[in-house]
Amino acid sequence: MNSIFDLLYPPRCPVCDGVRFFNEPVCCPPCREKLRFIDGPACMCCGRPLQSADTEYCYDCAKRKRSYERGISLGVYEGALKDSVLRFKFSGREEYAAFYAACLAERYRKQLHRFRPDVILPVPMHKRKERKRGYNQAASLARELSGLIGIPTDESILLRTRYTSPQKELNDVARLQNLLKAFAVEEEALSAWKKDHPFQRVILVDDIYTTGSTMEACASLLRRAGAEAVMPVTVAVAGGYMQ
Ligand SMILES: [Zn+2]
Ligand SMILES: [Zn+2]
Repeated sequence: MNSIFDLLYPPRCPVCDGVRFFNEPVCCPPCREKLRFIDGPACMCCGRPLQSADTEYCYDCAKRKRSYERGISLGVYEGALKDSVLRFKFSGREEYAAFYAACLAERYRKQLHRFRPDVILPVPMHKRKERKRGYNQAASLARELSGLIGIPTDESILLRTRYTSPQKELNDVARLQNLLKAFAVEEEALSAWKKDHPFQRVILVDDIYTTGSTMEACASLLRRAGAEAVMPVTVAVAGGYMQ
């Protein structure tokens, strides 16, 4: 054991949630086998796997205007990865962020650097919700990824200003309209950032990519605020329509 902290909060495997010792790999080798990561043609926009390399975009991205590009994701939101992400989000397993970030960096280091990012921003959570949960899992992931690929992260530029309930009953257009009002770029924080750093190319981090509405709302606000390109990076992507 490294410290009393490890005794109190031992690291856990992101797949079986079993306790791991400090000298063991964080994910049990048999559990690692259960994670099926995307390993083939993927949508050039959101990173969702495609059945054929003949198409560039998934059904969803092909039919909509997107303010982001070159998205990457670890795997499809199903099976062992889905269970893991649900604990990451709802059961206090903030620590899984380190494992997901390590996998993203290992698999996509080249793509991440080729994008020439200036900053990593997490999809923000409403402060009230974050206080209740204790953390914003997207921000935890952004911090871990930042440390691994050496790109700074910021949590004050993009904010969630309104608390919105899940909007499953709304159609895409209504959902996007709602979300555009729920997020905001904090002008003062952005000006402060721009004094010392460029703000042209943004990596936008979230846990799950489902319809793309959240990503689109955030990315379009960032583009309006001057960013020239936004790249979505997520842990899991909902299968949705595949081609
Ligand atoms: Zn395990
Ligand atoms: Zn797509």
